[in-house]
Amino acid sequence: MVLGVDVGGTKIAVAAVEGVTATHALEHATVLASTDGLLDGMEHAVREVIRGAGEPDAIGVGVPSQIEYETGTVESSVNIPLTGVPLREELGRRFGVPVFVDNDANCAALAEAHIVGARDLVMLTLGTGVGGGVVIDGLTFRGAHGLGAELGHMTINPDGPPCPGNCPNHGCLEAYCSGQALERDATELAKDKPDSPLAALVGPDGKVSGRELVSAADEGDADALLLMENFARMLGVGIATYVNVFEPERFAIGGGLSRASHLFLDRAVRDAGSRALPALWQRVTIALAEGGADAGVIGAGVLAALEIAADRDTEKSHATTTEGIE
Ligand SMILES: [Zn+2]
Repeated sequence: MVLGVDVGGTKIAVAAVEGVTATHALEHATVLASTDGLLDGMEHAVREVIRGAGEPDAIGVGVPSQIEYETGTVESSVNIPLTGVPLREELGRRFGVPVFVDNDANCAALAEAHIVGARDLVMLTLGTGVGGGVVIDGLTFRGAHGLGAELGHMTINPDGPPCPGNCPNHGCLEAYCSGQALERDATELAKDKPDSPLAALVGPDGKVSGRELVSAADEGDADALLLMENFARMLGVGIATYVNVFEPERFAIGGGLSRASHLFLDRAVRDAGSRALPALWQRVTIALAEGGADAGVIGAGVLAALEIAADRDTEKSHATTTEGIE
């Protein structure tokens, strides 16, 4: 048994994980005031689950941050105070069992691959920003230092709008297919057309939120529908490119915005299908992510279980090699 920990900007979820099943799940509010407060909050939540579920073999942790994987050090973290924290070492010291730390989108993709039984999978997480994960042969692809697979920062248009992420580029996928991009476009359109229904949705902060844009589109507002069409078109460009590069057997779409998939998914899949290489496109399934609210903790747990299984294999083969030499 392992523990999965999913650290979000508003809540920390912890559960005992066996296979792809989570039990003893609980959620605490994330302490954002200080790093120590955040770490203490994580420790409390984990100890509470251990009291009910027993001592784990390892703990996996997903955080909304860039992680240097080998050391489990947080390279940068925009929404929670963890930048520079050697999280793997710190939590290992607190709990006395192996700890593995990864980016939350990588954990979500790993959970999805293991839940649906896909060995090669690409997942996009559409939320405030665009996250992504790539699973190859059942394992997470991370690049040389764990910082790779930043699928939201693939350039769709070199002359596009500034990327809303912590990113110097213009025209990234995140600049088109994120909640922040929808808010930007809805707000601009409301300013250009002061008599439009969207203009009536401008809030006290001077903006039209992504959520309001989605409900306007649901009510059939032509401007809102046009913005969602553009979102779908750009998403299709992105999907086609990822299919061409990785040839996954499954392409999953998750994140909060996937709840509005009826407004963009059909169009995105149609566009992707007209752009991707036919031999690859025929062999891929595009689907909404099936992992539910527990996917983050399950993915973190699967990560920990895969790592300790790999460690055992290494020890076993080392022992065999040594015996062979003797
Ligand atoms: Zn970017």
